[in-house]
Amino acid sequence: MERQVCLPDGARVPCIGQGTWFLGEHKDRLEREQEALRAGVGAGMTLIDTAEMYGNGKAEILVGRTIKDMDRAGLFLVSKVYPHNAGRKNIFKSCMASLERMGTDYLDLYLLHWRGGIPLSETVACMEQLKKEGKIRRWGVSNFDTEDMEELWNVPGGKHCAVNQVLYHVASRGIEYDLLPWMREHKVPLMAYCPLAQAGSLKRGLYENPVLKRIADNHKAAVSQVLLAFAVRDGSSIAIPRTGRREHTLENAEAAKVMLTEEELGMIDREFPAPTRKVYLDIV
Ligand code: NDP
Repeated sequence: MERQVCLPDGARVPCIGQGTWFLGEHKDRLEREQEALRAGVGAGMTLIDTAEMYGNGKAEILVGRTIKDMDRAGLFLVSKVYPHNAGRKNIFKSCMASLERMGTDYLDLYLLHWRGGIPLSETVACMEQLKKEGKIRRWGVSNFDTEDMEELWNVPGGKHCAVNQVLYHVASRGIEYDLLPWMREHKVPLMAYCPLAQAGSLKRGLYENPVLKRIADNHKAAVSQVLLAFAVRDGSSIAIPRTGRREHTLENAEAAKVMLTEEELGMIDREFPAPTRKVYLDIV
């Protein structure tokens, strides 16, 4: 994929990757889902996002099956540790289990799925240890609001955080008020989850919205592609749409070519205004 995002350590990743929540859970869909992920990698969406939580490891197993015969170096694999496993007692076991399910010996990025009771300093120390052991290349966080990021920045090693993965789509722009500016200032890329608003289930009528439809028509594109183009428009954000269908995968990859004009972004701003005050993080 031509459009890439540069991580703080200089690694480059495609601006659109592939999510895997809810994939790998139904036997009769495994083939189709594997085919979709495979087609996505072929189309340049070499970043695959998963988690130990998804289907209790079933999504990681699906990823493992999909990438079995692929060149590992050409992939960027992301997984997440449950907050209750993100301490000395469990994180090393959790990480090993994820690696085994995915059939790989390292993760490109390991995320703390959301904040829990384990002190951030302990999680960061463990992440750094995993890095030293070569089990992960880098680590990051997910569902961290501005205050959490500030706290992280005050923990030893906290500034090594590579991304913050949070919910972001056209109809949920709360992070633009202070979290996104904070992340820009501190050079932490955004990984936008639910960039398709879960096919509209997070915002009724989104795919029928006349403004989005008009913009999609301008580009001979689908509304879903406009949503992805919006999420990655600043050049330092990565979107991770999920699909179990090959045709949707290819459509999502093509969205990297849709460049929204200033005029179109203005139309979106009027229809889905950016926040003018603090909005706490949207979470699914
Ligand atoms: P998305 O916003 O990616 O929406 C997924 C839905 O969109 C599916 O129903 C899919 O259906 C549909 N879809 C995908 N592509 C198209 C297309 N081109 N046209 C029409 N419909 C389409 O939701 P997710 O919740 O899955 O979020 C994306 C990923 O982000 C997750 O899979 C996961 O990896 C990550 N995530 C992380 C969270 C966190 O806490 N860190 C929380 C939530 C998600 P179909 O299969 O039929 O195409």
